[in-house]
Amino acid sequence: MKTYRIATVPGDGIGKEVVPAGRRVLEVLAGSESSFTFEFENFDWGGDYFRQHGEMMPESGLNALRGKDAILFGSAGDPHIPDHITLWGLRLKICQGLDQYANVRPTRILPGIDGPLKRCKDKDLNWVIVRENTEGEYSGVGGRVHQGHPIEVATDLSLMTRVGVERIQRFAFRLAQSRPRKLLTVITKSNAQRHAMVMWDEIASQISKEFPDVTWDRELVDAATARMVNRPASLDTIVATNLHADILSDLAAALAGSLGIAPTANINPERLYPSMFEPIHGSAFDIMGKGLANPVGTFWSVVMLLEHLGETDAAERVMKAVEHVTANPSLHTRDLGGMATTAQVTEAVCARIAATADGYI
Ligand code: ATP
Repeated sequence: MKTYRIATVPGDGIGKEVVPAGRRVLEVLAGSESSFTFEFENFDWGGDYFRQHGEMMPESGLNALRGKDAILFGSAGDPHIPDHITLWGLRLKICQGLDQYANVRPTRILPGIDGPLKRCKDKDLNWVIVRENTEGEYSGVGGRVHQGHPIEVATDLSLMTRVGVERIQRFAFRLAQSRPRKLLTVITKSNAQRHAMVMWDEIASQISKEFPDVTWDRELVDAATARMVNRPASLDTIVATNLHADILSDLAAALAGSLGIAPTANINPERLYPSMFEPIHGSAFDIMGKGLANPVGTFWSVVMLLEHLGETDAAERVMKAVEHVTANPSLHTRDLGGMATTAQVTEAVCARIAATADGYI
């Protein structure tokens, strides 16, 4: 029997509620599988760790993660610690340290979910956004001088490398090729940003020649927001820079019904390092500790984790269980207009997984 080593990093806020829920789903799944099991190790990094140790995670943390098969992450964010410290000290440290350069964000309207686009049929919205995850606008290059003085200067340099752009575009074309519609939209802003984004466009044209069966087009990021709302069915796979995809994927999550549903995967495609799976929502301190967090984004992240491990049948089983539960409005959490708690949704998904063991349903 294969044993997968999984690191869990709940982080802050509702991360501490949804990650244990995700782990429980994996444990119930393993209980009905004969070919694999999981060995979990939990890491208590985040805001509380920072208050005790002055850092979000220890220096040796990346080494502890390197030996794992996958990481299940919650969220990083604390109302008492500046956002750039929580983000750079934990999530980005892991993404960049483990070279998880492809951030993959699927969006669909799940059964039973009432999305805000009234003219849109559920099947019209089926996207995967690929976000460059290691450079671009979030490369961390820049500085601040003369702080507080009238002559203060601050810069953030958007850094794009040919290697970085080629690898994310190639990943996106390959992903588009693997999906039924074989359709890719490359998001750009080369009308206004006339250096790096022009290189980004040129590289898209170059990489497209390796994928003659993929239909692709280019869209300015501002126009893309309108297209997502007005013509959702014209999009399928989307690739964008770090900042552009960050914004577009929050819009995508909202159009799919709630931030609480959307998953994401931070992938090291060469598998030199473990990949990391997490819900796209943040720490949501306003609802922390109340049992109100929607765990569906974490469960969908667990599905992506299983797919990455090659356990596609198990992944499908979990996804079907999640869809079975979202189809029932009495199992909706408050963000979806319902009354259900994190624990009730989790137990309903686990019960469905157990009930579908050995193809019972
Ligand atoms: P951070 O600063 O860590 O990004 P945030 O609280 O500013 O966190 P999000 O957590 O992304 O931002 O979410 C914004 C709001 O959406 C939250 O305040 C919360 O009310 C709601 N929300 C987010 N995720 C969930 C969830 N899983 N279940 C229910 N509501 C959620």
